[in-house]
Amino acid sequence: MPRTITIAGNWKMNKTATEAAELAKPIIQAVANQSEITVVVCPPYTALQTVGGLIANSSVRLGAQNMSDKASGAYTGEISASMLRDLHVTHVILGHSERRAYYGETDEIVNKKTIAALENSLKPILCVGETLAEREASKTFDVIRTQLVGGFKGISAEQAENVIIAYEPVWAIGTGKTATPAMAQEVHAYIRKELTSLYGDTVAQKIRILYGGSMKPDNADALLSETDIDGGLIGGAALTAKDFLALVESGKAASLKKA
Ligand code: PEP
Repeated sequence: MPRTITIAGNWKMNKTATEAAELAKPIIQAVANQSEITVVVCPPYTALQTVGGLIANSSVRLGAQNMSDKASGAYTGEISASMLRDLHVTHVILGHSERRAYYGETDEIVNKKTIAALENSLKPILCVGETLAEREASKTFDVIRTQLVGGFKGISAEQAENVIIAYEPVWAIGTGKTATPAMAQEVHAYIRKELTSLYGDTVAQKIRILYGGSMKPDNADALLSETDIDGGLIGGAALTAKDFLALVESGKAASLKKA
């Protein structure tokens, strides 16, 4: 069975709740109740309830951008999995390179958060990716392997099927520099190979691997046509409905081709 294409928008620290509603409305109107692909929007925490209310009867899914690994208690400023579930959040981005770089998130922390998400029936979008220095030092595959092995520690094969991986080369995020489709496919194929070593071929073939890093309407078709690229995690281009909807259309076209 082909893997369902996922187009996910990471709004990062952009949009007040009011602005988020304005961005969400045309997306919901256009995406309506399609079921060919999975469309996820990830607004900031403060807009989850507003956007969640708007998408309630549509096929658009709600994602958060981070989450605590703790269930509850004295962790000032943190948000738990059950709090997200209560707002009808279904997906959560974990281990984004910005969180790894600016907030010291290690593979160990990302792993704990991934386990907490899975235990609460949230689908983690687990981000991995190398920096420019690591790529130039030919360390890309080593870095990815370490992030995968660390991120999936203690996660069963059954749980692993619910993890979505996002390969996001750090040098391509928000820079306008995109990995060529061939470069991205090479790493996606490597990720699938590592997943095969961890969980066997049947599970590895089911896990979705998204590409992220300056994906835009003019490069999405080529990226999404690659065998192991199962969708996109999109930052900048997710902040305008027109561009995001163009990416949704690219996702649908890729889904038809891969069916
Ligand atoms: C991201 O931050 O997840 C991302 C892919 O950003 P951009 O599309 O802007 O490169």
